[in-house]
Amino acid sequence: MAFEYAPAPESRSVVDIAPSYGLFIDGEFTDAADGKVFKTVSPATEEVLSEVARAGAEDVDRAVKAARGAFAKWSALPGAERAKYLFRIARIIQERSRELAVLETLDNGKPIRETRDADLPLVAAHFFYYAGWADKLDHAGYGANPRPLGVAGQVIPWNFPLLMLAWKIAPALATGNTVVLKPAETTPLSALFFADICRQAGLPRGVVNILPGYGDTGAALVEHEDVDKIAFTGSTAVGKAIARQIAGTGKKATLELGGKGANIVFDDAPVDQAVEGIVTGIFFNQGQVCCAGSRLLVQESVQDELLDSLKRRLSTLRVGDPLDKNTDLGAINSAEQLARIRTLADAGEAEGAERWSPECELPASGYWFAPTLFTNVTQAHTVARDEIFGPVLSVLTFRTPEEAVAKANNTQYGLSAGIWTEKGSRILAVANRLRAGVVWANTFNKFDPTSPFGGYKESGYGREGGRHGLEAYLDV
Ligand code: NAD
Repeated sequence: MAFEYAPAPESRSVVDIAPSYGLFIDGEFTDAADGKVFKTVSPATEEVLSEVARAGAEDVDRAVKAARGAFAKWSALPGAERAKYLFRIARIIQERSRELAVLETLDNGKPIRETRDADLPLVAAHFFYYAGWADKLDHAGYGANPRPLGVAGQVIPWNFPLLMLAWKIAPALATGNTVVLKPAETTPLSALFFADICRQAGLPRGVVNILPGYGDTGAALVEHEDVDKIAFTGSTAVGKAIARQIAGTGKKATLELGGKGANIVFDDAPVDQAVEGIVTGIFFNQGQVCCAGSRLLVQESVQDELLDSLKRRLSTLRVGDPLDKNTDLGAINSAEQLARIRTLADAGEAEGAERWSPECELPASGYWFAPTLFTNVTQAHTVARDEIFGPVLSVLTFRTPEEAVAKANNTQYGLSAGIWTEKGSRILAVANRLRAGVVWANTFNKFDPTSPFGGYKESGYGREGGRHGLEAYLDV
């Protein structure tokens, strides 16, 4: 008898979700000044998970005052003391990673395998990594005694809620800044859970403040005159609005924005390995990844073989319950995002690209989109130009490396790219001509805290991660 390995779904009872949450200001959970709240739902079921306080301008002011009040003491602590808090936070994240993974999966819709094996280990790794820097800043080439910027206003998106928080909070605290962070409106819960971890770690009051809310909360934070630094990750449209808003104010900013990454497959690439990389590149987190490999550029002579193999692989992907450990693709994060993906995919079809999806039954409730492939795509097609931020791959072809580079660079964005080839010399030659902040070779979506990440062109400016991530929070 065949034995089928079918581990039980992860249980939502692993994590205690309160019926309501407050804002986290000066070490306390508190209601919004005007009493406003909003609901956060599970995108896989549309079930309301909790009711969350919605911060307004008055709350932003309270939080910035708390962060300013904590700044003098926090920044004056010896680096080794700040490191102790960060190490403590990292260890608590590890200890509570099962709760956090389930919570993130419920609020975001992404598969538990990803939150458990990718998001949470990386979140802890970022706190460990920047904890290690906190007492070495004097020797990092920034001159003696480099100074923190002050109060950092941080605004993050919903696609990697806790990981984006870690990218922002860990380097800010290591360098002696204090923070006010606004999570995305559809995924506030893991940031509030993190607030509780700060309390558990004994972090001094006011060093970290968390303000759930919508775009107006983010705008009020960006605008606040006592915020010294803005760190924003999100759409290019909002990033541009923020750049205009802070122009002339002297506030420092890092902007991590959209992308339309090219995954370039040459005719000598091992097909099976490339197919796995293509699948990871675009279907990881349902394609809701700024650095997704959403354009496949395949050398013409291997197009048929590669696409056959890719379609066979896509037919094995499991779409469904994100808490099921066998699930490959979970739910789309929100009804709005689903509508956006549908509109752009429909435009691809209307413009004459050929649309294909494997047979797959989507759950009746919740927000779902089947893995989708577009072939016969030209560079003029919407699906080749616009960031779809969903499980949609557009396939283009090329004949020569020159053509591959030209097509890869033919985008308003410049965040990521991938190269698949056996030839090391070709990797170097092509990578050097790609205008992308990160280029992966024979792999895709590989992350670790030591590497800087960021964009060219409309993908934003500034770098997060690695040593460069420290510089973004220091007066160098
Ligand atoms: P979004 O820009 O709509 O929202 C991002 C955050 O900004 C949210 O917290 C939102 O409430 C807030 N916000 C909205 N309007 C604002 C305003 N006027 N002022 C200040 N804050 C405001 O983006 P999204 O839909 O949440 O995220 C998807 C986008 O994020 C995609 O374009 C994706 O490529 C990008 N992204 C980029 C990176 C990167 O590192 N480059 C990483 C993840 C996501």
